[in-house]
Amino acid sequence: MDFQYDLSFAQSLDANDALAPLRQRFLFPQHEGKPVLYFTGNSLGLQPKGVKDALIQECDDWAKYGVEGHFLAKNQWYGYHEAFAHGAAKLVGAQEHEVVMMNQLTVNLNLLLITFYQPQGKRRKILFECRPFPSDQYAFASQARLHGLEPSDVLVEMQPRQGEYNLRKEDILQKIEELGDELALVCFGGVNYFTGQLFPMQEITAAAHAAGAMCGFDLAHTAGNVPLQLHAWGVDFACWCTYKYLNSGPGSVGGVFVHDRHVKNKSLLRLAGWWGHNKDTRFQMGPDFDPMLSAEAWSMSNAPIFNMVAHRISLDIFTEVGMERLREKSIVLTAYLEFVLNAVQERTGQKLIRITPQDPEQRGCQLSVIVDGYDRKLVHTLYEQGVVVDWREPDVIRLAPVPLYNSFEDVFRLGQVLEKIFVR
Ligand SMILES: *Cc1c(COP(=O)(O)O)cnc(C)c1O
Repeated sequence: MDFQYDLSFAQSLDANDALAPLRQRFLFPQHEGKPVLYFTGNSLGLQPKGVKDALIQECDDWAKYGVEGHFLAKNQWYGYHEAFAHGAAKLVGAQEHEVVMMNQLTVNLNLLLITFYQPQGKRRKILFECRPFPSDQYAFASQARLHGLEPSDVLVEMQPRQGEYNLRKEDILQKIEELGDELALVCFGGVNYFTGQLFPMQEITAAAHAAGAMCGFDLAHTAGNVPLQLHAWGVDFACWCTYKYLNSGPGSVGGVFVHDRHVKNKSLLRLAGWWGHNKDTRFQMGPDFDPMLSAEAWSMSNAPIFNMVAHRISLDIFTEVGMERLREKSIVLTAYLEFVLNAVQERTGQKLIRITPQDPEQRGCQLSVIVDGYDRKLVHTLYEQGVVVDWREPDVIRLAPVPLYNSFEDVFRLGQVLEKIFVR
């Protein structure tokens, strides 16, 4: 598509965008009485309208029914998490018994590693992407120690080629092959939080399996950003958070995927609790753990209702719209952002170094940009102009135009603000 850097062009794209009205369903923070230009949906998604009423509903039901709310509440608390199975499965391309909502992301990653990181003999290495989210790396290291291993002996961080920001597919696949029978686990982010690179998950999974290793993904920046087919790709396990692209509020409940071939295996090692126990006999309160034949077997505690309310509303929006349509818009919206950044660079001479791949197949909606000569104060300067972006040390701003609620006009206006700042 031929883009233009002007307001009426951006507005015409919005006018032709069937998803544009979805924006009305979200609450935008205000700056000086006007909605901000919000580009940090990759960090904390906006609040869907209706969350407050839904929270009040649970408070009212608790007041009205007390313990009986487990069965009498409008949204029964007993089995509350089961209501997510359909939407979560659709979101990540899974069967309903392969997904469960529980805990939060890093907790879930650690729980899954208990099962899927089983170092044995020389097969004990964990391969992960360059510059993973630190929480993941801490989890890998702590799991190594749990097995009496020295993290520096078993953690393998993939490095890009000299002078490059992203990992090449052929290099990843080659590294997996090279590690061969020393490799216990490959665990990448689906989309890297820093560079915004989207990894070829299907091929990574196949390569890991060919090497005899397990393969899992942290989908914090992937779920709700790009379509996924975890079941068909044969991924062993995955986890994600719901407060970023999934708009479910700060610290909201996490999601877990465990492939069908594993959920049927009762003998897998896992940390157990009563909510993972066979539902039919759970309340006989017997001493022996009998795992459910679903991802729920990994959940230990009863559902944190208040931490799930917003997700119910948000996930319904994804189910209604579908990831394919969101992705279709997202590719164009991010391409427009790229075009606008190029225009700003051309007009102002300010160097804007993109570290996100140019190929839409290798990125989600986020663009990470090194703004040559600026430091983190730039984020505050932008905020004073009503623009919300975030900064990642040492020198990167991340911009995430989210197809659910960002418009082409937002992107154009961001360009205008940047131009004004850089021209000085
Ligand atoms: C956001 C993010 C986290 C945060 O972990 P929490 O347990 O939700 O605090 C972890 N890993 C990745 C890859 C992330 O992007």
